[in-house]
Amino acid sequence: MNDPNCIFCKIVRGEIPAKKIHDDAEVIAFHDIRPQAPVHFLVIPKAHVATLYDAGPEHVAALGKMLAIAGRLAREAGAAEGFRTIINTGPVGHQEVYHVHMHVLGGPDPLGPMLSRKR
Ligand code: AMP
Ligand code: ZN
Repeated sequence: MNDPNCIFCKIVRGEIPAKKIHDDAEVIAFHDIRPQAPVHFLVIPKAHVATLYDAGPEHVAALGKMLAIAGRLAREAGAAEGFRTIINTGPVGHQEVYHVHMHVLGGPDPLGPMLSRKR
């Protein structure tokens, strides 16, 4: 449920600071510390789930809520004309933090292509 060494669990527990924009019983959302777009925040389940490979029926409510609140939070953060959601999983997906998180990226201008081509 809660991993003592996980950086996002520490944010959930309030042990390290984050610019939170949402907090309820199941999920929190906070601004990414290294934004890659004018709007860039993360939505995470409060329960520790390392990757989407580890998600199961017990996580359906939190994972569903992450999607269900993304639009409102994006609009409130300034992305009113669209945004992109990304969940990176494992080494192939370049996942850096092993606590499931959904990136929400947007801004006034259109984003770049969905994937940069590998050379
Ligand atoms: P990913 O590559 O999908 O695992 O992305 C991890 C994201 O977490 C990156 O965009 C980081 O900038 C972000 N991140 C790491 N530590 C923090 C933190 N303490 N507060 C907010 N965002 C963070
Ligand atoms: Zn965690």
